[in-house]
Amino acid sequence: METENLKISIAHLYPELLNLYGDIGNVITLKKRCEWRGINVDFEEIHYGDKITEHDLYFIGGGQDKQQEDVAEELFKNKWFLMSERDKGAVFLGICGGYQLFGHYYQPHDKEKLKGISLMDAYTVAGNKRFIGNVTAKTDFLEPQTLVGFENHSGLTYLEGDTKPLAIIETGNGNNGKDKTEGGRYKNVFGTYLHGSFLPKNPQFADYLIELALEKRYGEKIKLPKLNDEIENLTHSGLENKRY
Ligand code: GLN
Repeated sequence: METENLKISIAHLYPELLNLYGDIGNVITLKKRCEWRGINVDFEEIHYGDKITEHDLYFIGGGQDKQQEDVAEELFKNKWFLMSERDKGAVFLGICGGYQLFGHYYQPHDKEKLKGISLMDAYTVAGNKRFIGNVTAKTDFLEPQTLVGFENHSGLTYLEGDTKPLAIIETGNGNNGKDKTEGGRYKNVFGTYLHGSFLPKNPQFADYLIELALEKRYGEKIKLPKLNDEIENLTHSGLENKRY
């Protein structure tokens, strides 16, 4: 199917609260990589207190514990709706703090446990050190396989049940600095600790998410035409080869 005049709808959840280290770059990447192929994007920012409506793809960025507290309760009010969206094949991408809230809970240091929305079988507890630095991690479903980015978190995330890692750590810490996993995936829900922002330097994953969102909307696999990713690939390989 030609991509000209196709459409996907994208929601950016709580950009005024969870948008650390340029996470909005992920939304800009998704929108531009659609527009460059003639795909129309219905885009909606969901702010604190707004009703979350049906979309093909939901994005939520990272944030400090305080912003996560502000968002967690509001997000939890929409738990059942978002779980039903997940089960209908909607695509989710959560970065760091947003990813942590995709699990069952996030237990910060000496503070009330934050309830997650259980889109994936995972939980996060505050660690005693902050993981900061560049990360490379290998997936088993993308080409190129490697994902690159920047981590800055003290939370330690543990995956359970049918939730699989997004990738396996090559350099950096990832979910918890112990089990070599980075991020998580369940159905079309994806989480990662990679900021940077993440998708501009991992265009193969951005396209993978767009193709999943198109499949959810149109009920068939739609292969995206290639783009000239020379600059994106230079950035990706620069980080992969630790030149930056
Ligand atoms: N506050 C969380 C942590 O420190 C998430 C941080 C982030 O989103 N970068 O683990």
